[in-house]
Amino acid sequence: MAALNENIDSVKRRIIDACQKRPPSLSQKITLVAVSKTKPATQIEEALALGLCDFGENYVQELEEKIKQVSSPQLHWHFIGHLQSNKAKNIVGKVFLIHGLDSLKLAKEIEKECLKKGIVQKALVQINLSKEESKGGISENEIEDFLKSLNEFEQLEIVGLMTLPPPTENPEESRPYFKKLREIKDALNSKKIYRSELTELSMGMTQDFEVAIEEGATIIRVGTAIFGSR
Ligand SMILES: *Cc1c(COP(=O)(O)O)cnc(C)c1O
Repeated sequence: MAALNENIDSVKRRIIDACQKRPPSLSQKITLVAVSKTKPATQIEEALALGLCDFGENYVQELEEKIKQVSSPQLHWHFIGHLQSNKAKNIVGKVFLIHGLDSLKLAKEIEKECLKKGIVQKALVQINLSKEESKGGISENEIEDFLKSLNEFEQLEIVGLMTLPPPTENPEESRPYFKKLREIKDALNSKKIYRSELTELSMGMTQDFEVAIEEGATIIRVGTAIFGSR
């Protein structure tokens, strides 16, 4: 495996190249979330020292352990996995962004925990565009009603959308999903369904982040290309 600094440099170059292929209307800043699931805290520290600030984890317990092991004022944790509502209390207020909000039950738990702690928690709504049963996420035809009902939770701030296309070797196969997510965000904003503008699109992983950037991603979640295979 290449050294971590070489991997990070290569990902950054790929990001810059992809940014140059975007239409001018999609010139948002990109946040690179380094997905550190299954990797030891020492590798997160190393990546922090090399200038990465955003780290993504999928499992509550693993995240809690890493929060104890690694701390730095510039570090932002992202919860990118499926969050069970009974585990919300463990991470609310400890993570910068929850990427996979996909039920009212979970939203209620997050709100309850925020009120208890006197904080606001940012989150993204996960949309399931591939209709895979096994995957979490709100379906496209339910998104308007879902977002409308989130307006009542004042401590839960929805800043955008997230999606996870089916795994593929060919990044072009992900493009329609990324394009669709952007179109859904634009439609929700123009109809003012949510109380504030949705600005973030969390989409794209090692295999397809360039295509995601070309389609308007503002947050990409990259594990393998940074830390090697799991
Ligand atoms: C693991 C994971 C990633 C990173 O995947 P890579 O292919 O290793 O880049 C991104 N997003 C989610 C939701 C994940 O679970």
